[in-house]
Amino acid sequence: MYQRIFDQLNDFLTQTLLVFTPLNPDAFQGVFIKKLSNQNIVREKRRISAGNTASTVNQTHLDVTGRDSMLFFFETLNDQTTTIQGIDIDLYCNNYAYLKEINSARPQKDNLGNTSFVRLAYGVPRNTLGKGDDLLHSLAYKKYGHTGSQVQINMPDSREKFSVFHSLAFLDDALVFLKYDYTHYLALLIPARFCQGLYEITGTRGNQNVNVPVANPAYNKGVADRLAGQRIRKEMLADEVAVNSIRGSVFLGAAAGTDILRLAKARVSQGAFRKLLFLKSHKCCLCGITVTQALRASHIKEWADATQEERLDPENGLLLCANHDALFDRHLISFHPETGKLCVSKALTLEQRQALSLPGDMTLSLSGRMKAYMKIHYQKFKSGEV
Ligand SMILES: [Zn+2]
Repeated sequence: MYQRIFDQLNDFLTQTLLVFTPLNPDAFQGVFIKKLSNQNIVREKRRISAGNTASTVNQTHLDVTGRDSMLFFFETLNDQTTTIQGIDIDLYCNNYAYLKEINSARPQKDNLGNTSFVRLAYGVPRNTLGKGDDLLHSLAYKKYGHTGSQVQINMPDSREKFSVFHSLAFLDDALVFLKYDYTHYLALLIPARFCQGLYEITGTRGNQNVNVPVANPAYNKGVADRLAGQRIRKEMLADEVAVNSIRGSVFLGAAAGTDILRLAKARVSQGAFRKLLFLKSHKCCLCGITVTQALRASHIKEWADATQEERLDPENGLLLCANHDALFDRHLISFHPETGKLCVSKALTLEQRQALSLPGDMTLSLSGRMKAYMKIHYQKFKSGEV
């Protein structure tokens, strides 16, 4: 079934988009197909009834229901905890451009007084597409456990690309999530007219919250990581170019230089390098916090001192929460390059250590290359201690 779904997706892309790169099924852990019901459409404020009250709200999330669907987005299920994690959603930019081109709609009122919309155009607009296989990045977050039976994909900001993309949806369209990894998805929106084959394969009938997850039966983490590595490396080179252009465009006084470095570091630690570290883990390697929004990719050998190769090396990175990243960045903590034991600056009081959740005794396991990078970090930490 998995391969047949990809055939359908590639078929859609071939029919509607002038330039595209066929989706490679091996690059993904699985695919999730949601047939959109009227309440999933972000087109205008909607009237909803809850008990005796009716109110008008903006639709700001997608509900994903069913055990298998939830497992598509979270690794474990339980009824106790609420987990919120930031996720990256890539959109094919020409899927997005295509949808914008065919977005002419006719409104009609339903018997609840809500306006529903019918898409008027389906054709392939001439000369407006073909921008290549670039991806538009968007942020959203996934929330698990508020009822123990569903995951929400939330769109925190209506100007975020994913919410704009989602606002181009109509009834019975398919919103398809392809899962690169735990926090990183590719989204495609397929207009209803092109969904027949997709719905036949997945046995999708009815119109209420149809959720169909399909795992990749041949999923091979090694292959997927290698493909992801190639993709992310391309993004990281783009980050480098962007940083260099920032540096080139600003007059560099002594103070400005420091600011630029800080800017560059922020860009890199929250951009593609972070995605690279996410391939290995989704938590702070010091305190274990899993709130992905608060996680930064910290370079062990500082970004400013590193060669380009070292900047792109995942072994030169630690995933740390914002607090621990700040401490590591300022050399107020380090790890012994041989034993991996956490070292905390004498400048921090006991109260501060406790408030910052710095364990008294903690060891990080370090690979050979990490030890070499850590040696440099540790020397700077030591020189700050005397
Ligand atoms: Zn932490």
